Amino acid sequence: MSFSSYVPTKVFCGRGCVREYGAAMKPLGAHALIVTGKSSARCGALQDVCAALAANGQDYTVFDRVLPNPTLACVREGVALARAAGADLVVGVGGGSPMDAAKAIAVLAVEARADEAVFAGGYGEAALPMAHVPTTAGTGSEVTPYAILTDDFARTKTSISSPALFPKFAFLDGSYTDGLPLQITRDTAADALSHAVESMLKKSSSPASETFAKESLRILYPRLKSLEDLTEETRDALLWASCLAGMAIAQTGTTIVHGMGYFLTYDRGVAHGRANALLLGETLRLCEEKGVPALGEICVACGASVDEICKTLSHLCGARENVPRETLERYAARTMSNKNIGKCKFDPTQGDVLRILLRSLGDGSFIG
Ligand code: NAP
Ligand code: FE
Repeated sequence: MSFSSYVPTKVFCGRGCVREYGAAMKPLGAHALIVTGKSSARCGALQDVCAALAANGQDYTVFDRVLPNPTLACVREGVALARAAGADLVVGVGGGSPMDAAKAIAVLAVEARADEAVFAGGYGEAALPMAHVPTTAGTGSEVTPYAILTDDFARTKTSISSPALFPKFAFLDGSYTDGLPLQITRDTAADALSHAVESMLKKSSSPASETFAKESLRILYPRLKSLEDLTEETRDALLWASCLAGMAIAQTGTTIVHGMGYFLTYDRGVAHGRANALLLGETLRLCEEKGVPALGEICVACGASVDEICKTLSHLCGARENVPRETLERYAARTMSNKNIGKCKFDPTQGDVLRILLRSLGDGSFIG
């Protein structure tokens, strides 16, 4: 067996880590563009980052206009601000949306591309150096080489990917997530779960990615059952589990669940993590029907059966969206053009994808 593993981000972990280790950012540049969102900016992280940069003698400009599911227009605004300010370093502070916007800004600031070419791939090694501070526990974007943007050309969400998008540093301080509303806590935790599971379902999974994915599931799954009134210990554990799942997908990418879920987010405004939560259970059931061996390893890592995992996911989802059959048929057809679908261990057919969508979101008339 041969495989390689590349997760180059240095991760600082623990409450107070930005204040304690913020000096690490000093060699990255003289002027930082801090990319954040309105709520992300209010959880203490922005304050700590600004204090750390000031203590390093670094100037900074704050761009706090990133909304969930960042658009190309938002990224363009950030690039213009970075250029105007002479920023030579980018710090992402927030959930996946500000972190991904920060990554896209960091790469497009040094590699000019027309809008139509942004999703064409082929990015070089150059980007402004980055440090990321997650304020949700879900995406793991702080350790992945991906930035996922709203793609109005393809009418879905599409990732740009390059080793240049790996942040140099990630600062994981669970206190920034203490005030996360329950719904965002649920959605983002489901996103992390889906990353770990989908990584295990990728043909490219390796002993390295599986180590990260299984450890993430071991920490995360038992805590999903009671996400109300979380202790600091649980918040810290969720953040670490999310980072581990990010390390897993940094090597494998995601597959069928994310591939389907992007349409729910783009077309119907379903939060990213929730979209995955809605579709993950029936994906696992299909794996069971097809006898996918990785499913057994996923269950062992979770310490739960497929039925139990599905029950937990249903609890996380609450009342489900109902989507007309014709729409789901369209999503199934479009999901098949996602390049990550064919890389799934069980080679899903369009019929498989439609079955998952109908069972998860159909009106109940579908039997099969
Ligand atoms: P998000 O879109 O970044 O944030 C969701 C909501 O949470 C926003 O309203 C945000 O408010 C709020 N929020 C963030 N931190 C908060 C805090 N500490 N306290 C209170 N509210 C807070 O959600 P996300 O689930 O973290 O990220 C989803 C995005 O990441 C999607 O675009 C998805 O495609 C992407 N993603 C990327 C990767 C990757 O590897 N790059 C992996 C998975 C998902 P404000 O907007 O006002 O700050
Ligand atoms: Fe995700």
